[in-house]
Amino acid sequence: MITATILSIGTELLFGQTVNTNAAEVSLELQALGIGVLYHHTVGDNPGRMREVLELSLKESDIVITTGGLGPTQDDITKELIAEVMGVGTEFNEEALTRMTEMFQRLGRKNFTENNKKQAYLPVGSTVFQNDEGTAPGFALRGSTGSDFRGKVAIALPGPPREMRAMLKKDVIPYLAGLSDAALYQKNLRFYGVGESALETLLLPLIDGQTDPTIATYAKDGECIVRIASMRGTEAEAEAAVLEAVLKVKAIAGKYLYSSEGEELSEVVVRKLREKGLVLAAAESCTGGLFAKNVTDISGASAVFDRGFVTYSNEAKTELLGVPEAVIEEFGAVSRETAELMSEGALQNSAADIAIAVTGIAGPEGGTEEKPVGLCYISVSRNDEASKTILTESIKKTIIQRSRSYIRSIAVLEMFNQLLIAISEK
Ligand code: ATP
Ligand code: MG
Repeated sequence: MITATILSIGTELLFGQTVNTNAAEVSLELQALGIGVLYHHTVGDNPGRMREVLELSLKESDIVITTGGLGPTQDDITKELIAEVMGVGTEFNEEALTRMTEMFQRLGRKNFTENNKKQAYLPVGSTVFQNDEGTAPGFALRGSTGSDFRGKVAIALPGPPREMRAMLKKDVIPYLAGLSDAALYQKNLRFYGVGESALETLLLPLIDGQTDPTIATYAKDGECIVRIASMRGTEAEAEAAVLEAVLKVKAIAGKYLYSSEGEELSEVVVRKLREKGLVLAAAESCTGGLFAKNVTDISGASAVFDRGFVTYSNEAKTELLGVPEAVIEEFGAVSRETAELMSEGALQNSAADIAIAVTGIAGPEGGTEEKPVGLCYISVSRNDEASKTILTESIKKTIIQRSRSYIRSIAVLEMFNQLLIAISEK
């Protein structure tokens, strides 16, 4: 396996002023290519320490990807250091200068200062990556025969995430794919309603003693992901190996599986609603519109989402959804009775075919022994064509107490799950 180290450069990262999103993004892309990321290092803009950690990185991995310090200012020294450590000089790159001048014109910036030219000097022998989103070009440099780091590859990318991302996709991924003679194929299977350790236990016979394909489980808030990956001589061979493993996983844990294509639960629900031509409405209390936000985050949601009611107060539940005051008084705002009347009210007061409602206690205050923080009721109502009546089904769920935002996001996930169950039946 080809290995990599990601070296993030910038004092602002050490001070905590900038969150290191670049390292995470580069890692995700590398692992998708089947390159093993062994280390993340972060260093400030200090020549001595940068050199030390750059040398260490080139020793420990086949590829080092740096981000940051490629700009025109005095403290931008990544390029010079890489050239020095790899034992080469820098040379002027005409194309880089032309691109930079064009970029300046496009941005309407007049003062092309002399220090900008510095960015057009690149290590001798490097593969240049032009910067379509900014000015500083990036590059890849392979250690030559005489170098201390013969055969090792250093790749330098700009710090600004937008520039880094564009260059990563356009140039770096194709460059890296060309380095490896093996092909990787992988699939992410997504599960709901089963904990990570339970899922791993179920899959243990497959996971134990595996070499290729590899099967690994990951926990994500409220759900689990199983990544199945194979590295073979050709992509077709790798794909066949993965698909065979997918069948085995499905045979064991298929009832919890909601996507074999890495989709979010919300995406699966929106896609299925579209396929069935169903229109959705929502009534939310404790989630305060988070469900509606999650639906409308998906492009194409307008075809399936009619409206959402955020009915936080008892009055709103009565006025907008027609939940009788007496019901709220007798059973409480957080009760199965209220939830069911909320989804029925949402159905009747909208153009939807199916409506979902949630009411619960998001905490941290407001819980009682009888109704603890994390308790929610979720109800789904739909029009039944045959009997011309409304069919309503509800569930009670207690989300083991964590933060308010966790409870709300898990409640929303469960709403999508209940919808998936309801529309799969229909
Ligand atoms: P520039 O030409 O803008 O100077 P540069 O390649 O020299 O680019 P830096 O000066 O190191 O990059 O960083 C520019 C900005 O990019 C930083 O202020 C920071 O906001 C952002 N940035 C740098 N490194 C990272 C990182 N690892 N993760 C997220 N953002 C980063
Ligand atoms: Mg800079």
